[in-house]
Amino acid sequence: NSKGFDLRDPLELAEIEAERTRWLEHRWTGGPLLAAAGDESGRHVEEIVNPAHGNDRVGKVAWCSEADVAAALSAAQIWDAPPEERARVLCRAADLYEEHYGELFALISREAGKSLPDAVAELREAVDFLRYYAGFATGDAPRGVFTCISPWNFPLAIFTGQIGAALAAGNAVLAKPAETTSLIAWRATQLLHEAGVPATALQLLPGEGRSVGTALCSDARVSGVCFTGSLPTAQAINRAMAANLSPDAPLIAETGGLNAMIVDSTALPEQAVRDILASSFQSAGQRCSALRVLYVQRDVEKKMLDMLHGAMDELHIGDPWYLDSDVGPVITATAKKGIEDHIAKARSDGRILHRLKTPGRGHYVAPVTIKVSGIEDVEREIFGPVLHVASFEAGELDQVIETINASGYGLTFGLHTRIDDRVQHIDSLVNVGNLYVNRNQIGAIVGSQPFGGEGLSGTGPKAGGPHYVPRFRAAKVNRMPA
Ligand code: GLU
Repeated sequence: NSKGFDLRDPLELAEIEAERTRWLEHRWTGGPLLAAAGDESGRHVEEIVNPAHGNDRVGKVAWCSEADVAAALSAAQIWDAPPEERARVLCRAADLYEEHYGELFALISREAGKSLPDAVAELREAVDFLRYYAGFATGDAPRGVFTCISPWNFPLAIFTGQIGAALAAGNAVLAKPAETTSLIAWRATQLLHEAGVPATALQLLPGEGRSVGTALCSDARVSGVCFTGSLPTAQAINRAMAANLSPDAPLIAETGGLNAMIVDSTALPEQAVRDILASSFQSAGQRCSALRVLYVQRDVEKKMLDMLHGAMDELHIGDPWYLDSDVGPVITATAKKGIEDHIAKARSDGRILHRLKTPGRGHYVAPVTIKVSGIEDVEREIFGPVLHVASFEAGELDQVIETINASGYGLTFGLHTRIDDRVQHIDSLVNVGNLYVNRNQIGAIVGSQPFGGEGLSGTGPKAGGPHYVPRFRAAKVNRMPA
């Protein structure tokens, strides 16, 4: 009972296009007590616009007030239904997500600026998370109230994954979605409730991180926090939790990365180029798994870069609603400015290797390659379609891995080589959560490729893996006389 959404099948594609086109001009409203005309209670009402066009108004969402947060904390109740019932409800929610695919695809494109193939992958991942975590619903003790803070780059999949895991374990969830993608979260929450998740076990609290998010990580009634986002925010959450929560409250955090790929002179160049493009520029580089620093062996550097830049020239940057767009916008004007500032600095240092042209409207950033001597030149994660390129000699490989490890991050790593021993050797040296050989390094798959990093990239356990849901439970040992 699972939809494939095969975009290569013309009949299926036509059906998908018809379904999502019904939502092309829809405006959504979400948030506590939001009346269609506006909110009369004094709450801030945020207007959401499409990152691809300022004139496409996607909808409005009311942000929670302090009183809403207080009320949610008092109302939260663990989900005490039998585990089989919780599992059934989560699977029903997965079915409802699939039934509403047209609306969800439209929202993912219009609110988050993602392409249709990305939207398909995202819905699939969300559904997979629900069904996979449902399998981990057991009779063990929930921890209590979980705060789940999710990012805008996977506004449905990561939102659903965090909540699905916490609910499978029987917790009460207070979910704070990213400000920019609250409407998708709002619709998903409605579907979860419709499937049978009790209103007191799942409450959505849209609003700003610095007010709502902070409050939800600083209340002693919260027994754990699940967060995906930037490293500085994870560190701030960690401090708030240490000051206010019980010492056994876990922080389950997935943060960023400075992900590298090594391409040696035995790699198949066409395959490497295809995988570099996907890893760096798909989703406009807005994945924490995305490739940021490419190391190419010097004797193939010129050939590889010529091919890469030629292939980049074929990328079409444009409105992600249309199937011929390869690279959509970045999420906001502020995000665009941060990325463009980084590119401008590289330009003033004469380090731009290749840059595409930026379309006029919308928050687009044209893909770019920037020359660096190594990962140590990249001072922070640039969350956009920016690829840094370095080169190495065969004898320097171990040292390259050492500098990659020294960055402190350890999320994904890509390797293109046809030398088997080299795969084993690098695998034994590199500190990363997800290592990908002779393929792209994005798009981990629930159940078969659990996802999550080492060091500054996160706390673990890996999402979509067998250790994830147990972290949302209290470990309890009951002994009775034999
Ligand atoms: N799981 C996603 C992937 O493998 C990345 C998640 C993220 O960006 O937070 O591409």
